[in-house]
Amino acid sequence: MPTPPPPQLAAPPSEEGRRSRWVARLPYLALALFLGAIAALVWLTREYDEEEQRATLINDALWMEQNLRFQLDRNAAQLQQIAPDLLRTERLSGPTEAQLRQLLSPDRGLVQILWLDAEGRVRNSMPPQSEDKLIGETSGAVPSPDISRLARAVGRPVYGPAYPVLGDQTQFEAHVPVWGDEGFLGTVVGVYSLSDLVVRELPWWFSERYRVAVLDPDGREVASKSKVAPLDPGRAYTIAFDPPGHGLTLQITPYKGETRWIPVLLSASMLLFAVIIVWSVWQLRRQLAARQAAEQAVRAESAYRRAMEDSLITGLRARDLSGRLTYVNSAFCRMTGYTAEELVGCKPPMPYWDPDHIAETQKLHEQIMAGGTSPEGVEVRLRRRNGERLDALVFEAPLIDAHGRHTGWMGSVLDITEQKRARELALQQEERLQATSRLVTMGEMASTLAHELNQPLAAIASYNTGCLNRLEADEFDRDELRDIHEKIGRQARRAGDIIRRVHDFVRRAEPRREALDLNEVIREALGLVEPDARKRRIHLVADLAADLPVVHADAVMIEQIIVNLVRNGMDAMQDTPEPNRSLRIGTRSAGAVVTVRVTDHGTGIDAETARHLFQPFFTTKQEGMGMGLNICRSIAELHHGRLGFEPAPDGGTIFTLTLPVDS
Ligand code: ADP
Repeated sequence: MPTPPPPQLAAPPSEEGRRSRWVARLPYLALALFLGAIAALVWLTREYDEEEQRATLINDALWMEQNLRFQLDRNAAQLQQIAPDLLRTERLSGPTEAQLRQLLSPDRGLVQILWLDAEGRVRNSMPPQSEDKLIGETSGAVPSPDISRLARAVGRPVYGPAYPVLGDQTQFEAHVPVWGDEGFLGTVVGVYSLSDLVVRELPWWFSERYRVAVLDPDGREVASKSKVAPLDPGRAYTIAFDPPGHGLTLQITPYKGETRWIPVLLSASMLLFAVIIVWSVWQLRRQLAARQAAEQAVRAESAYRRAMEDSLITGLRARDLSGRLTYVNSAFCRMTGYTAEELVGCKPPMPYWDPDHIAETQKLHEQIMAGGTSPEGVEVRLRRRNGERLDALVFEAPLIDAHGRHTGWMGSVLDITEQKRARELALQQEERLQATSRLVTMGEMASTLAHELNQPLAAIASYNTGCLNRLEADEFDRDELRDIHEKIGRQARRAGDIIRRVHDFVRRAEPRREALDLNEVIREALGLVEPDARKRRIHLVADLAADLPVVHADAVMIEQIIVNLVRNGMDAMQDTPEPNRSLRIGTRSAGAVVTVRVTDHGTGIDAETARHLFQPFFTTKQEGMGMGLNICRSIAELHHGRLGFEPAPDGGTIFTLTLPVDS
């Protein structure tokens, strides 16, 4: 059976709603914080990385500068070492020449070595003077005497400024003053090619990583290790190139930042985690929303069912297989007077069992536990908490769980105390009424009986006197005497009949069903009322169907109905003009029923009277009891028949008694 839609529930209170909204937002807040922390971490890592790269750059630059300085110092020292040899002798010794050639090897940066005497004149050079042309192409200038003087003055090597030579080369000179035992010997001048020095001197890994350039004081590039421009010139590092000095600077620019895989991986994995978290939070929210919707539906459904249960007047109680109470509804609590808390969990004997019927109730309980109740239910006597008696009709059905297992019994309990009390009362009343009615009828009949018996007795007495007179006069005819005695006998039988009928009428309380010829019962009844009718000058007409089927009924009771109906009809015709004072009793058979119709031409029954007609003690007569019709109807119903009435077409009333043929 489809469940009707549960009523819409009102929105939850705003305080709770606000809290749950906050709880729902919490994961997003945490996620935002988490992402912020990751971004900060990545940024810090990058900063740290840049810092580290910068530190490495500075370190490398310092290293390079140190390296160049060391190279220059080493060259100067070596020049100083071989200088006395160069300046004292005209011809170069083999080792000195070898040393010179070594100094002039491409990786030392020197392109020419000249040695000048104490007066500053060039004594010789390597490459030799004969190679002037070549030197001229490379040096393009003669050593500056000022610098030589300065070197002599300060007593240590002095470097000259850089100057351009042929092509795009730039050179500078190192003037090394030389002293011997005899005093100042002269100066050895080493001519350096800036680009050679820078290019050759640097190790491969350095030039891979950095672009190295030498800038003049105006910032112009005078030598460089590579022509390829770095990606980010802003990250260049500049230090003074001293020696040689004179405003020369070394500019070192990293080609590109080293890719640090750890922060990249870190960021990527964090991003991935964040995406997964967002996705799972979203999924969770969806599931939560679905669950909340389901819970809401369950709550609405349960509220709906509870409202339904609470509105029931039938008590419901569930028990597990051991007989322990697992559930009671409010109607059951109202019925017994115990609260649900007191009842749930109770085991037999239950507190609401009637202490006077414990053994029977226990037996009934065991029967129910073994197999439930019949569809008609079982009646059981219980006791309310306040000690009042409680009659209940109990229906049991097995409780089957979702897996199809039998887990207990669900019982519906109807409080039938009032109905039962009313039924008992009605039964008692009916018994009392029947007794009363019989007494009343007996009373009525006693007077009728006196009147009735009076006639035959008077007749017997007069016949008897007639006989005696004839006997005394001794003039009697034998046939006449027999005739008189026969009449006496008839009258005596009639009196006996009257007494027997009355006796039968009052003797029994219980209906004694037997196959009846209804016409015969009516004839008997008419026999009873006939004298009264005669007295009232009422004409009784019997219109009895010949082929009437047999009915199973109590003859005396049916006769009682007929007598009552006829009497009532006669009473109603008290003021009817004599020619119309007739009462018709007819019988008819129609299908499965037989109908008796009693038609009078009396006053008829007005609407007000009709409303109370069958009520006990309703009467419009001065000496009436008002029980006749009530008892008649009870008798009719006892025989599964009906008693009704309708107005007769030409005035008066028709009372109809219907009895089933097979009753
Ligand atoms: P009682 O005869 O003692 O009054 P009944 O129960 O037999 O009690 O009848 C109740 C009332 O119904 C009568 O007092 C009368 O007013 C009315 N009644 C019964 N039968 C008839 C009838 N045939 N015609 C008119 N009124 C009737």
